[in-house]
Amino acid sequence: MSYKVQKGTVYLVGAGPGDLKLITVKAKEILEQADIIIYDNLINIRLLECAKPNAKKIFVGKSSGNHSIPQSEINELLLNEINPKTSVIRLKGGDPLVFGRIREEINTLETENIPYEIVPGITAAMACAAYTSIPITERDTSSSIIFLTGHENPEKMCLNLDFREYAKENATLCIYMGVGQMERIVGELIEGGLKPNTPVAIVENGSTQKQKSTIGHLGTIVEKSKAQSIQSPAIIFVGSVVNLKGSQNWFENKPLFGKKIIVPRARQQAGKLTELLEFYGADVIEIPLIAISPEYDKETIADVFTELSTYQWILFTSANGVQHFFDLFFKAYEDIRSIGLSQIGVVGNATEKAIKSLHLKVDLLPESANSDALVDALLERESLDNTKILVVTGNKGSPSLVKRLETEGRAIVDRLPLYENKKCSISESPYFESFKTFGADAILFTSSSTVQNFMDSIKDLSIDPSILPAYGSIGVKTSETLKQMGATIDFESPKANLENFVVETISYFKNKPTNNK
Ligand code: SAH
Repeated sequence: MSYKVQKGTVYLVGAGPGDLKLITVKAKEILEQADIIIYDNLINIRLLECAKPNAKKIFVGKSSGNHSIPQSEINELLLNEINPKTSVIRLKGGDPLVFGRIREEINTLETENIPYEIVPGITAAMACAAYTSIPITERDTSSSIIFLTGHENPEKMCLNLDFREYAKENATLCIYMGVGQMERIVGELIEGGLKPNTPVAIVENGSTQKQKSTIGHLGTIVEKSKAQSIQSPAIIFVGSVVNLKGSQNWFENKPLFGKKIIVPRARQQAGKLTELLEFYGADVIEIPLIAISPEYDKETIADVFTELSTYQWILFTSANGVQHFFDLFFKAYEDIRSIGLSQIGVVGNATEKAIKSLHLKVDLLPESANSDALVDALLERESLDNTKILVVTGNKGSPSLVKRLETEGRAIVDRLPLYENKKCSISESPYFESFKTFGADAILFTSSSTVQNFMDSIKDLSIDPSILPAYGSIGVKTSETLKQMGATIDFESPKANLENFVVETISYFKNKPTNNK
């Protein structure tokens, strides 16, 4: 059961350091239920996808070039948004209690007698240590951890620490917001008594696909970080534990780490591929090139449903078809048995999974995930002469499937289109500007329609060809479309399923580390 969010309560919640999965279960459950989300820029923006569709999302962080909203305005915003009918989540990067100016928000809420709760999060220092294998304490040499802030913006009205006081040999210093003040910090630590050869690690964008770590010592780190253009947000670790760092580099050595990969799927479908790619360390950019919406003719549905038990086969060519079909089916019937005794044939593992999730058996799944393979398998299996077949598809889908069943199999086929694939342009995506400037390493095409939409949308956008990503194709059909459109296929999955596609992507980069066309 989910944690029960109360109306009229403000939740001050840590969102974790950047890795989407490093949010607590409690924080995620509150986020899923909250009416209003007030969030900072250090949170992983994709967390907002957990929110209710009608939740109000208010950004109060610093966006490029702009100053962040003053704390007093955030306090006021909290008071304006909370009322007995709303719940507010104030989502902060890392842990809300660590350099998160939470005292001011607590004071505001207490002064107005507004109930609040606090949910801790994984703070950046702990995540950066974990994602670079730095044991931040060590029994013999480092028995304390000190969290410090360097305040990289000297204009801020805040206390600047005297780092000489923290020049302790048996401690690990974890310095937040220190990149802009590195020279001063290092100078004071040495003045305070730390040796220039004291080990230092800087971890930038820890736990995200942009993580970058730099190792050195006090004497060299300023130069090194300049040479490597270390940027905020970063944690600076100072202390002997840095030398005890594990050498496997488990996170940065993931096979797709640092690769920027575009997943151009329909909005509702991107999840699984994205998850797999991220598991292998990729920096995934989801750019929807298709929007799927229900589109059907009510009379046809009524006719098909009346005759449902007369079909010997029902064929589904996509998981979307399954979803839309059963959404309508369960509006008409209460009981799954109303589907009758038809056999079920599907194209692709995702479609099979969708059927199985309803506790229905798939009678036919061809090895290749395309509709021709389904016809071949059906024809091989039995005579289709006069067999009644229902084909559930999208508005564009399956003309050749229907034709072949009718001509080669002499079957009686009803086609039931249930949804519409609408084109979206890449320029509609919030990531478009970044794509246009920096490009990407690969784009993974999972259907012919995404190929067409991508090629059509880049045609008019004057994209510099040198930033175009490598083209990956999920299988033969998608590759055919790429060829027809005059594009080079950089890699093709040997089997048309997401797992194989991701494995193929990994081996492509392993054998050909330089990206782009
Ligand atoms: N409440 C946050 C800290 C906010 S202060 C927490 O508990 O993590 C902002 C500073 O946190 C940044 O300037 C940087 O020093 C650090 N920080 C936040 N996210 C980070 C990340 N993913 N990698 C490295 N440092 C990070």
